[in-house]
Amino acid sequence: MKSFLRHLLILLIPITIFGQRYDQEKLEELAEKYTKQSFTELIDILSIPNDAIFPESLEENIQWCEKAFGNRNFKTTRIPTAVAPLLLAERKGKKAKKTVLIYLQIDGQPVDTTRWFQKSPYIPVFKEKEASGNWKTLENYDLNNYQDDWRIFARSASDAKGPVAMFLAALDAISEKNFEPNYNIKVIMDFEEELGSPRLPQAVIDNRELLKSDMMVIFDGPLHITNKPTLVFGARGIATITLTTYGPIVPQHSGHYGNYAPNPAFGLSKLLASMKDDEGRVSIPGYYDGITLDEDTKKILRGVPDDEDFIRNKLQIADIDKVGSNYQEAIQYPSLNIRGMQSGWINEKARTIVPSWARAEIDVRLVLESDPHRLIKLISSHVENQGYLVLDREPTKEERLSNKRIATFTHELSYQSFRTEMNSDVGIWLENALEKAFEDDIIKIRMGGGSIPISPFVNTLGIPAVIVPTVNMDNNQHSPNENLRLGNYRDGIKTMIAILTEKL
Ligand SMILES: [Zn+2]
Repeated sequence: MKSFLRHLLILLIPITIFGQRYDQEKLEELAEKYTKQSFTELIDILSIPNDAIFPESLEENIQWCEKAFGNRNFKTTRIPTAVAPLLLAERKGKKAKKTVLIYLQIDGQPVDTTRWFQKSPYIPVFKEKEASGNWKTLENYDLNNYQDDWRIFARSASDAKGPVAMFLAALDAISEKNFEPNYNIKVIMDFEEELGSPRLPQAVIDNRELLKSDMMVIFDGPLHITNKPTLVFGARGIATITLTTYGPIVPQHSGHYGNYAPNPAFGLSKLLASMKDDEGRVSIPGYYDGITLDEDTKKILRGVPDDEDFIRNKLQIADIDKVGSNYQEAIQYPSLNIRGMQSGWINEKARTIVPSWARAEIDVRLVLESDPHRLIKLISSHVENQGYLVLDREPTKEERLSNKRIATFTHELSYQSFRTEMNSDVGIWLENALEKAFEDDIIKIRMGGGSIPISPFVNTLGIPAVIVPTVNMDNNQHSPNENLRLGNYRDGIKTMIAILTEKL
């Protein structure tokens, strides 16, 4: 019996290997073909302005998506909210037992057109890096002979219309082969992601039945910095705080009143400085409570091939904050970050004044273990403990006259963090698909540092979620000159074909 099995195995192994190779080659070929075919559609979607601060500009994006998915036999439904709707596109699979909910983000960050090295962030251009390191706009180019290192520059090229175009291309590729996934697909499109998806949590609660699914896949975000196939099993949530301190009611001449009228910028600086120790750790007691990383978790975190010398070199920083002992560990904790500060005027507008106020904008990236309300309370109590009268509005004259230190503290909780087990059904399914596509080890990240509005789905629908990133890390997302590397675009399409063809 034993030797029979051995013979059978010997016979079977080459077949399996051959089968996998064949699959991989077929995938490669299909991805290549549909990369070239889909450039027109990629350029098309990137040409529509999508800054969600202007809801009227979103309508064209919504209609574009309705048409794109409608053409591919999806039924689309607008889920209304007070401002921009969410869009749901559904397609049933043959003999499907399970439903996969796919999240796509359509809106983009605001643009400062003066800082883009092209006519408009909404007129995509292709560029190539010169030996000098500068990006040169391609004039006469043939996209049928595109090079992997060429990039398309436009707002949302990477974050996250690129992945939308990849997904549409992958759907076309499988339909050419008459292949149908053995699961139902629901695609949820968010048009307010860059605003923090303020209306999404309620919309998910109100449409629980409509969105009912077994698991969630998010096509968003950059690959690990090595640009190797990556899966991300969680993301930090986010809350924001605005903190203002006060001096004289209007700015005063610094010659007449310097040494006399207290300066709110010094007050704010001290307050902020008191929140962290010299090693970059939050010094407010209890801030990191509840987070313990056991040996297994630490092993998973160490398994991510981060080259920290490279990161420090790229960021040009001599030392790092000592929250965790490495990069991956650091992002398992909540952050406390000053994202901007203002008081008086600076640069050519600098004036010799004692400013009347100073303000810091703060963001707090959240992790699963820490209750966001508790963290916010800890920070506001800390301000109080420094002798401040803490208000959620501007102070009155009476309050100004009777309190030496006054701060306005307002906050907004966008959404909580989420995290999925790596050995969950959805995790294993995606890992199998990616392994087939790339014949390579998959980099598995326990939790990404950035935030995406997935916890409302995870918590309300009770489903696990995993992020499948595709774009290059150095894509300038949220900044001028956002771009997408064409090799990543093709591999993204390949990734999505692999997922669509992987049995669930
Ligand atoms: Zn973004």
